[in-house]
Amino acid sequence: MALIVQKFGGTSVADAERIRNVARIITDTYAKGNDVVAVLSAQGDTTDDLIDRAAELNPNASKRELDMLLSTGEQISCSLCAMAIEAMGFPVVSLTGWQAGFYTNSGYGNARIKRVRGERIRAELDKRRIVIVTGFQGINKYDDITTLGRGGSDTSAVAIAASLNAGLCQIFTDVDGVYTADPRLVPTAHKLEEITYDEMLELATLGAQVLHNRSVEMAKRYNVNLEVLSSFSGKPGTKVKEVVKTMEKSHVSGVAKDKNIARLALVGLEDTPGIAFQVFSLLAKNNVNVDIILQSIGRSDTKDISFTVAKGDMELARNLLEESRDRIHFDRIDVSDNIAKVSIVGAGMINNPGVAAEMFEALFDAGINISMISTSEIKVSVLVHISDADQAVRVIHDKFYDEFNGRQ
Ligand code: ADP
Ligand code: ASP
Ligand code: MG
Repeated sequence: MALIVQKFGGTSVADAERIRNVARIITDTYAKGNDVVAVLSAQGDTTDDLIDRAAELNPNASKRELDMLLSTGEQISCSLCAMAIEAMGFPVVSLTGWQAGFYTNSGYGNARIKRVRGERIRAELDKRRIVIVTGFQGINKYDDITTLGRGGSDTSAVAIAASLNAGLCQIFTDVDGVYTADPRLVPTAHKLEEITYDEMLELATLGAQVLHNRSVEMAKRYNVNLEVLSSFSGKPGTKVKEVVKTMEKSHVSGVAKDKNIARLALVGLEDTPGIAFQVFSLLAKNNVNVDIILQSIGRSDTKDISFTVAKGDMELARNLLEESRDRIHFDRIDVSDNIAKVSIVGAGMINNPGVAAEMFEALFDAGINISMISTSEIKVSVLVHISDADQAVRVIHDKFYDEFNGRQ
């Protein structure tokens, strides 16, 4: 007998029939003698719909009130699922984030979990009940409801698995595992049997929304046995772990894209020591996360610095820099949100210097222009025009996987 945490995403609980299907997966696991904690997302597009409803009444609603609203979506799916399980004759209880002991910081809309007090869940499991917990939500020090950021239910599930020392954390979704690229965009993508925490973390951070990146970070830190699988197919999924046996087979484990970014370029920036420090400390102090940075070689006492931020931070970053012109001298700021980041990820890249060149060749052959490049030991990212992003993913995927299929 083991303790198993099972998380079900929005598509998996979208209607009554799907909730019954989820209830069957949960009760089958329970009937085998396991303790089961299930974490559910809101049904279908509920979270998006709630955001739209809020905007109708107040486009600038406070994040506190938004969290109060958005957290209701998960409460609906959990109570409905518990009712379906009751109807099947199994003992069950559903709990909200605060009942389950999720304590977060006060960052409404993107709160971080500080700890999970597992007593209530443990007590319910001791009574041999199936426990259904709302994903995506917690409570802060003011006793206010917080949410964990879009896609955050994966992180709720991993946090429970880590705090209760579960034997397994299964993330059930609408695809049957982690693929070499989004299978909806690249039909020839391959399902990975296994992937390392590090590679999965990069892929998730670079735009593969199949897992919330913070869930992967947490799974690595607490060594949670993580699996991504389909709630519809019953097929084995993808295991996310520290070391995988297939690691040396291909250099690239996946291709990802992120359209949620914007680029700012400071043109004609004064070329004096400390200028980069001033620009980026100003942004950091205001919680603007900067990703790729490119600085041109100085000429006639000026230089240009371009960098990317999340789309939602573009106006804030521009305003902060405009307002600081008395200290930071530059000619102008150009901004663009017509860009996307396309990345390849793979631990095998470290020892294979040709990988980046192959990626660039695929883009060249397709006539796709690259505007910025960034690399690390296990990834290469390029910025392209947003209208080229999907094609870029496909041609890069074809380049690596056709060739690697031949080589393996
Ligand atoms: P859920 O609602 O279950 O949390 P998400 O929509 O958040 O599901 O994540 C699943 C989706 O992630 C899939 O439908 C797929 O389109 C997308 N996806 C993006 N990249 C990948 C990838 N590399 N492997 C699998 N799915 C991916
Ligand atoms: N319902 C939330 C969202 O749509 C959380 C989740 O699905 O993980 O972002
Ligand atoms: Mg998700």
